[in-house]
Amino acid sequence: MKTIYLDNNATTKVAPEVFDEMQPFFCQLYGNPSSMHYFGGQVAKSVAQARNHVAELLGAQSAKEVIFTSCGTESDNTAIIGALRSNPEKRHIITTKVEHPAVLNLCRYLRKREGYRITYLTVDQKGHLDLNELKSAITDDTAIVSIMHANNETGVLFPLGDITQIVKEKGVVFHTDAVQSVGKIPINLQKIPIDLLSLSGHKLHAPKGVGALYIREGTKLAPLLIGGHQEFGQRGGTENVPSIIGLGKACQLALQYLEDERNRVKSLRDKLENHILQQVSNAKVNGDPLNRLPNTSNISFEFIEGEAILLLLSDQGIAASSGSACTSGSLEPSHVLRAMGVSFTYTHGSIRFSLSRYTTEKEINTVTEALIPIVEQLRTISPFGPKNNPQKV
Ligand code: PLP
Repeated sequence: MKTIYLDNNATTKVAPEVFDEMQPFFCQLYGNPSSMHYFGGQVAKSVAQARNHVAELLGAQSAKEVIFTSCGTESDNTAIIGALRSNPEKRHIITTKVEHPAVLNLCRYLRKREGYRITYLTVDQKGHLDLNELKSAITDDTAIVSIMHANNETGVLFPLGDITQIVKEKGVVFHTDAVQSVGKIPINLQKIPIDLLSLSGHKLHAPKGVGALYIREGTKLAPLLIGGHQEFGQRGGTENVPSIIGLGKACQLALQYLEDERNRVKSLRDKLENHILQQVSNAKVNGDPLNRLPNTSNISFEFIEGEAILLLLSDQGIAASSGSACTSGSLEPSHVLRAMGVSFTYTHGSIRFSLSRYTTEKEINTVTEALIPIVEQLRTISPFGPKNNPQKV
């Protein structure tokens, strides 16, 4: 069976160019980059080059502002815990209700175990923040504001420029979880003075198990992993060299593919959405249709379960995701859609399609052809469906 992968916000295929670039670092160039000898020096040079590629994609002033980590979650934890530890007298954190669990569950932990006070900013029906709410939430006790760039479920983008300005005017450290946006849309850290930014390799065609944290020069940040002097003393532990090399190559490629993402990928996403919305009643796009990632579409089908759609798509070799089960393995409705006030009957029928540079027009046509009968079939058997509840239509 031919497979179609539209779950790229969950993880991506390693780009063949990335894989090729990594290969020599397993059995030939296996030196420790900290070693003084030739084997080490050669590898250290390649790690430095990878760091340059990451810095370039972010528009960072210097590659020294980039440290490598093991994943987006580690980057988020290092940023938030590191900022708190280096400013222990401040006890307040601001974040949003729609963050990834890497931030949300950390904040819950910090409140429960360490007594931090957390403000969770709300979002409106399109998934947008009220920047006045942010302004008035910041106090003299605020240690860090952590607000994501792009939402992983809906793709909705928060206005990083405006947010950074508000937070920096109050002299507070600003962290953004940019795990979903880096490599999909341009970002320029020389224009937007964000203090800390997280990214993850496996979301942009590098392997799993590698990420990076941007730390603006001068930002006080206690390390999370204390050990050797690696990563400028910000993260102890011998570097995961092959994956770091892969991440560097993936960032170099992402820069080249930004245009493709903005045009071709976006138009395929729009085609998919338009087809579905034209042919299926009681379906709607969740989140601001204009201000979101070009690859992401979160669509709700009223009266049916998203998981049922997913399983039937999966039977035909099509991989997508539902808001509920994707990260937690639970069937709780999506915290993001609930925060947006999406009604119960729509929340349960949500599906996320996330495209990539490898998605083709033919695949999009196949998905629409498969999806429409699936929705019709499920609605005829759903106890909540229009047939059984005619007053709902
Ligand atoms: N932040 C966001 C917005 C994400 O979408 C994810 C992964 O889905 C993460 C953080 C966690 O990244 P990782 O899987 O690399 O730990």
